[in-house]
Amino acid sequence: MQVKVYQDVLDANDRIAALNRVRLESLGLLTLNLIGSPGCGKTSLLERTLQELKAAGIRCGVIEGDLETSRDAERISACGVPAVQINTKGGCHLDAASVQRVLDDLPLTEMDVLFIENVGNLVCPAGFDLGEAGKVVVLSVTEGDDKPSKYPVIFRKASAALITKSDLLSHTDFNVDAAQRDMRAVNPPLPVMLLSARTGDGIAEWMGWILARTRRRSHG
Ligand code: MG
Ligand code: ZN
Repeated sequence: MQVKVYQDVLDANDRIAALNRVRLESLGLLTLNLIGSPGCGKTSLLERTLQELKAAGIRCGVIEGDLETSRDAERISACGVPAVQINTKGGCHLDAASVQRVLDDLPLTEMDVLFIENVGNLVCPAGFDLGEAGKVVVLSVTEGDDKPSKYPVIFRKASAALITKSDLLSHTDFNVDAAQRDMRAVNPPLPVMLLSARTGDGIAEWMGWILARTRRRSHG
């Protein structure tokens, strides 16, 4: 019975995700769902990314998923980018309905890219479609290179993988080649980018990946 109930939840979620996707795509928005463990550097990466995209003339907005606090949303707002918070009150993932409820709180018609920072968790966010164009999995070098083989589902579903905190690489045993090999074992075409939000190393490649997928409309 549990399995049946879970499947019904996912089916209901997928129906709302499809509505979100139609709405976001019809506005020409590129929507990216960032998924990674707590502390992997999602918010720091977003801060850096938003600054770079702003400099490139790309207008962004952010949905911040958090268990309890609004600290990350405040960090994003400080970048001068519209941000809304979804407080899951302990819930370990965002679902399509929670995203649908906050879409009206963002200036969607004045945006090119919508980032959704999911709740810090490598497991169940992978199972919940939010209506995004792609999932971006974020893994830091401080977490260990065994994560792709332990949590293959998110790496299979991802459109890109970011290995963050590359500036700390020499202080860890993280093996970039091994991590990349395990990611590609479940998802051969997966683009894997090594970067540091702190130093900016590798950020240009990530910017290139986003810009190639952004339908830049005439504005400004
Ligand atoms: Mg965060
Ligand atoms: Zn969950």
